[in-house]
Amino acid sequence: MKNILIYVAMQSEAQPIIEALDLTITSLLPKALPMQTFAGKKDKHHYLLVTSGKSTLYGVDNVGTEPAAVGLQAALQLFDADLVINAGTAGGWQTKGAKIAQVYLGKSPIRYHDHRIPIPTFEAYGRGSYPCMDTSELARKLNLTQGFISTSNSLDFNQDCDRLMQENNADCKEMECAALAWVCHLYQKPFLPVKAITDFVDGKHPTAEQFQQNLNRTCEALKNAVIKLLAII
Ligand code: SAH
Repeated sequence: MKNILIYVAMQSEAQPIIEALDLTITSLLPKALPMQTFAGKKDKHHYLLVTSGKSTLYGVDNVGTEPAAVGLQAALQLFDADLVINAGTAGGWQTKGAKIAQVYLGKSPIRYHDHRIPIPTFEAYGRGSYPCMDTSELARKLNLTQGFISTSNSLDFNQDCDRLMQENNADCKEMECAALAWVCHLYQKPFLPVKAITDFVDGKHPTAEQFQQNLNRTCEALKNAVIKLLAII
């Protein structure tokens, strides 16, 4: 029996997983926080799924690094997780062979591509490089790809982001993973990132358009992969 914490930024990404695991909404976190928690026990494990919740100011999901770090930190105060899974969507690269709805397991290090601090002693700190668990065995067993994940707080990217994503050897571009990896590093929790591709970073169409079009299908693939992972963990 393990305590498994699943962090999912957006409600639409989380919903299929919540349903598959029969989780029920709970209000465990401090009232000031917008994150939502869903708890349950199924088969071998206890689960706490945390989403970043909605912004009361802007009416959209609290995507990005700050809510992810605060939400995970708060959740770890009340749930002694044996494992933290980050399930979410990401952009991928057609030129690297990515397909829409393809699922990647993270590979260390998890890095940022928008924390540029061009002072020699701060450069590596800005880039991050936080560990995740070795996913090679899980990837082999479930026939999933392993990939490097690169995080920023932008859905689009500029030339500097592009250069750093290349330096990071990025396979998955998203907006939470490095922040969650940092919290797991602080709390010494094993961290397992699972990312499904909603859009192509090197595609012809705008990211937001691809994202909306592919979201449902990709979240279904993400849920299937998470359920299979949970069965063999
Ligand atoms: N256009 C979306 C906004 C979602 S923001 C909407 O209207 O709902 C993007 C979310 O999906 C973030 O949580 C991020 O982790 C993930 N994501 C998917 N594709 C991405 C990409 N190409 N770049 C950055 N984040 C991406």
